[in-house]
Amino acid sequence: MVTTQKYVYFFGNSRTDGGADMKNLLGGKGANLAEMCRLGIAVPPGFTISTEACTRFTESGRDALTELIRAEVQQGVAFAEKEMGKQFGNAADPLLLSVRSGARASMPGMMDTILNLGLNDEAVLGLATKSNNERFAWDSYRRFIQMYGDVVMGLKPLSKEEHDPFEIIIDALKEKKGVRLDTDLDAQDLKELVHRFKALIRARLGCDFPNDPWEQLWGAIWAVFESWNNDRAQVYRELNDIPQSWGTAVNVQAMVFGNLGDHSATGVAFSRDAGTGEDLFNGEFLVNAQGEDVVAGIRTPQQVSLIGSRRWAELALVSEADRASHFPSLEELMPDIYAQLLHFETTLENHFKDMQDIEFTIQEGKLWMLQTRNGKRTGAAMVRIAMEMLKQGMIDEKAALQRVAPDRLDELLHPIFDPKALAAAQPIARGLPASPGAATGQIVFFADEAENWVKNGKAVILVRQETSPEDLRGMSVAKGILTARGGMTSHAAVVARGMGKCCVSGAGAVHVDMKARSMRIGSTDYAEGDWISLNGSTGEVYLGKIATKDAELSGDFGALMALTDKYKRLDIRANADSPEDAKVARGFGAAGIGLCRTEHMFFEGDRILAVREMILADNEAGRRQALTKLLPIQRGDFEGLFREMHGLPVIIRLLDPPLHEFLPHDDANQRLMANELRVPLAKIKLRVEELHEFNPMMGHRGCRLGISYPEITEMQTRAVLEAALNVRAEGSHVKAEIMVPLVGTVREYNAQAEVIRRTAAAVFAERGESIDYLLGTMIETPRGALIADSIATQAEFFSFGSNDLTQMTLGFSRDDAGKFLPDYIKRSIYEHDPFQTIDQKGVGLLVQMAVQKGRSARPDLEIGVCGEHGGDPASVAFFHRAGLDYVSCSPYRVPIARLSAAQAAIND
Ligand code: ADP
Ligand code: MG
Ligand code: MG
Repeated sequence: MVTTQKYVYFFGNSRTDGGADMKNLLGGKGANLAEMCRLGIAVPPGFTISTEACTRFTESGRDALTELIRAEVQQGVAFAEKEMGKQFGNAADPLLLSVRSGARASMPGMMDTILNLGLNDEAVLGLATKSNNERFAWDSYRRFIQMYGDVVMGLKPLSKEEHDPFEIIIDALKEKKGVRLDTDLDAQDLKELVHRFKALIRARLGCDFPNDPWEQLWGAIWAVFESWNNDRAQVYRELNDIPQSWGTAVNVQAMVFGNLGDHSATGVAFSRDAGTGEDLFNGEFLVNAQGEDVVAGIRTPQQVSLIGSRRWAELALVSEADRASHFPSLEELMPDIYAQLLHFETTLENHFKDMQDIEFTIQEGKLWMLQTRNGKRTGAAMVRIAMEMLKQGMIDEKAALQRVAPDRLDELLHPIFDPKALAAAQPIARGLPASPGAATGQIVFFADEAENWVKNGKAVILVRQETSPEDLRGMSVAKGILTARGGMTSHAAVVARGMGKCCVSGAGAVHVDMKARSMRIGSTDYAEGDWISLNGSTGEVYLGKIATKDAELSGDFGALMALTDKYKRLDIRANADSPEDAKVARGFGAAGIGLCRTEHMFFEGDRILAVREMILADNEAGRRQALTKLLPIQRGDFEGLFREMHGLPVIIRLLDPPLHEFLPHDDANQRLMANELRVPLAKIKLRVEELHEFNPMMGHRGCRLGISYPEITEMQTRAVLEAALNVRAEGSHVKAEIMVPLVGTVREYNAQAEVIRRTAAAVFAERGESIDYLLGTMIETPRGALIADSIATQAEFFSFGSNDLTQMTLGFSRDDAGKFLPDYIKRSIYEHDPFQTIDQKGVGLLVQMAVQKGRSARPDLEIGVCGEHGGDPASVAFFHRAGLDYVSCSPYRVPIARLSAAQAAIND
């Protein structure tokens, strides 16, 4: 039986094959174009070539693919011809097409689109006659040659300092004519551009621009499929975790024209504010323009709504009179169209129940919709939109929780400018508040150089005339982005919001000279390397560095967090070593401390002296003497922690790192230490040498220290329990848990448990009172996990040390993995960095096994995890499924873990 697979799906007035639920096959753009047709919204008709065709293209090459889909594509064109009542390739009245890429996940501006396809030397004359608009015809033709020349024929700038070669020709002609804007060029000028463009192509590429519409169409289809593999698309996929295997669809669609004169326009809009989340329809448009003009930042776009227009004018320092006459809103200029657009926008938002990012074109008074998708937004907007849609009854609580990507909360936890420092700062320019946040860094003008600077440990602000998809990687490492051109929907603005990166766009006073690597504002020049600061919420640019301060949970963010508690099963604790950390963690809603690394307090002030004295001691008596000095210090620290946590559980881990970490390894500091402790330098050098290990992470550390030097365990136990008794005496509840690190055998654990229990008995006898505490262990060696049932007969709780467990299970040294892990991930040997996202298949198996064995021996065993993974959304979901009681992460990741835990529970 021969089955022919379908590769082409129509959309239009009379017939629509696809729908929003077919994103995998049709890509996001194609699926939603079809869905809009189904909703009765005016969409230029056309067809979508599926992502499966892209896969065939990659597998078997262009010729095989073309044979496979030729007939279907011809039928698709015939369908569009019938719907539009025009013919493709008819020189007297040509049907023109756009060829648009569209992957499953939206990749704005990442791949290539070609407009006005089907024009040639004859058809341009037909179009001019038919439209009675010669200028329009030649404008469309020159745009087509420009896009096709770039995207399909590969005519690009020769170096990064060079401008687009087509733009150079345009600029030269404008200069000759003494005009500033593209719209100032007349039909004759545009005809001239077409000739010059074609000559450029002939000179640079040695071939002619294709005149045959079908040849043009196939060239464009192939180019879109090929663009799936271009550099910037690959970078984008890498940054956004989009699999290579998905492929892109191709949408071929009848053209509608926003460049037909003053009753035509093109624009983009959002159903809510993508920066702040405010429920306000907003967007930008340009009269007499086509497609990319709005995002490319070529002219200053106008605002869609009147209120948006007034707000823009205020920021851009444009007077109301000036605004109304030169930059009126669409609402004022074309009230009927505006009303229709508002209606479409509301229909689409209600239908998709999410904020929509739409593209539209107005052709001589008729509104056409060209795209709709769930809009990208900042973390803050994500939270506000979810919570407001919940209040508006559009979505339920579970959907609201699912709407926010946990990682994006990070942006709300980021510092903002310290108001005092800000008041003293000197503003030097102002642009549009394109993406909120506070950024301070050194000026860099090129994206690749931004990457190098950041690699060398610098903080940079990427300053550009405007950004393009080639700049992605540089944008992603910069602290902030400043552009001289472009509006709120410019490439820089959209991408920065997607990344949650601070961005000020369209700062008109900034003049960038890429060759000189400087920017001029007024009469002052700022060079590469100068420090500036950006406020992405106001659009202000300041000279120099500005101090920042911490953010807090409040408003919608607070409400979202409260909602997580209703759904999540996992508790979220924090890793906190000091009362200050504990306070931050409590503020973010931590339900306890999952890990206090006692040794972190050893470095503070002159405590390190007592620690070093202990390490240098020749015998137990000497060590005990030094430990006596440490006891009150540790006790004080623990009291602070217990007070801060108000009766929530606090896990304190016994000393863990190898002792050499506490000694200086360079000569100068060793001399300093010799002086301070009044011991011979030689003695210090000898001790450092003795403590040297070939593989310290598998050396003398963890409970091995307490076994060699039980007096350390004694002191720490005493400090914990005395602190607990003291704080309880103040009237506070205290829940102390003492944790033995790096256990691999039951005897090892028991040896330490014996010291701890004995010390506890002594403390309680001295004080004439006692307090309950839990005694447990970390599970962080593979052997510990394997014999978890025997360990659980002794230990009252487990905490997975997922960092060590990963490093020992994989045999990857965490400190050295940076040398090879990037290669591993690039080649998909591991899909994720296993130190960031738990390796479920390997390490995860040990976790599941240890949970099951542990609980079989002790049903009420408390189990948590305290490695970095505790704050990673995918890992949190895994720990939820594995049945842990809590995850513990750094204080700033607590909100992220809370939300991840709620989502995991909802997904059960
Ligand atoms: P991207 O994915 O980069 O947004 P698009 O395929 O959406 O690329 O197209 C780029 C621009 O061209 C958009 O502004 C879009 O609205 C416009 N455009 C695409 N197809 C047409 C068409 N058939 N008629 C008019 N404008 C179009
Ligand atoms: Mg688009
Ligand atoms: Mg460890």
